[in-house]
Amino acid sequence: MRMIIICKQFVLWIFFFCCLPANREFLMLCPRLFLLINMPTEQRKIIHCDCDCFYASVEMRDDPSLRSLPLAIGGPASQRGVIATCNYEAREHGIHSAMSSAHARRQCPGLVILPPNFDKYREVSRQMREIFFDYTELVEPLSLDEAYLDVTDSDKCRGSATLIAREIRQRVKKELGITLSTGVAPNKFLAKIGSDWNKPDGETIILPEDIDAFVEKLPVKKIFGVGKVTAEKLHRFGADSCGELRQFSVFELTENFGRFGGRLYELCRGIDSRPVKPSQRRKSLSVEHTYPEDLPDLEACLKQLPELLIKLRSRLRLVDNQYLITKQLVKMKFNDFQSTTVECLSRKPDDATFRELMATAFERGNLPVRLLGVGVRFVDLLEEGKPEQLELFEDK
Ligand SMILES: [Mg+2]
Repeated sequence: MRMIIICKQFVLWIFFFCCLPANREFLMLCPRLFLLINMPTEQRKIIHCDCDCFYASVEMRDDPSLRSLPLAIGGPASQRGVIATCNYEAREHGIHSAMSSAHARRQCPGLVILPPNFDKYREVSRQMREIFFDYTELVEPLSLDEAYLDVTDSDKCRGSATLIAREIRQRVKKELGITLSTGVAPNKFLAKIGSDWNKPDGETIILPEDIDAFVEKLPVKKIFGVGKVTAEKLHRFGADSCGELRQFSVFELTENFGRFGGRLYELCRGIDSRPVKPSQRRKSLSVEHTYPEDLPDLEACLKQLPELLIKLRSRLRLVDNQYLITKQLVKMKFNDFQSTTVECLSRKPDDATFRELMATAFERGNLPVRLLGVGVRFVDLLEEGKPEQLELFEDK
């Protein structure tokens, strides 16, 4: 089947190139050919996840007293700093990213400006990616707080991309304490527009049958790559919306906008065949729990271990067989917010070793515990290129 599809694409391309110089008018009469060539060959289910004012959300999570204040993360106003992001309270005062901190401070005298803590943001980003990996291996991060997921072949949530997106939002909120907006669509272009559509803490679902109507009204400014200059040029063309842009042929657009003209021709029809390209696979898998009341001693911690291990085992069953376990680990956060991770080499994680690791971790702080985590680290055989059989958890 795949071979037939590839052959079809190949033949269509040859036909397209042969016709191009010889019979331009003919092709102008059949723009569908262009679309046919560039149509993705299968219906995809893509989710775009984007955290809401990420850096500010992490800081508000860690210090709830900041929640009601206009807050920005950026360089100090006294040293020509720039705002990286700000919360929604600050946005109401007209503060936005890339604004100079000095200007922001003048505009909103009560603005709290905190320096960024990238180590912390990277850690939250890593934890969020671990959640994404529970649904698909096809995760393409765009930045610390944004990623595309291709869940076409995922069987989680009965294979429903809508339910997967919803569950991811709920889990990120519950497990990481920040909010995320998602866009669900058959391609990357529409999924990304969707995640921005109902921010913050929102979701947008664009079904294949709704694409045409949704895109028709979409302002051209929403198309990725259409900046101020291109938008003005399109405005002079009489195309402020994607619907208006559709009246131009692929040739007219290519003549005026170069190669981007071809992209515009597709995007204003909601067509985008770019695949999700996973840039990295997971390096570890862990489950954590923050307890509503601190666990007073090691015994209380050990009592929580079986439940954590049940969750870890069920997650481990979902990873593909190219992951080889190399270590097992226990993470502990004490009530003074100091955390520690203890790990040891292990091919087959076992409960007794987890208990020992937990005892070692507890000795390091010897304080009541607010968070416990258990997990494993992997070698990725796909990256290493070493075929070896994966042995999952030792069942006991
Ligand atoms: Mg964001």
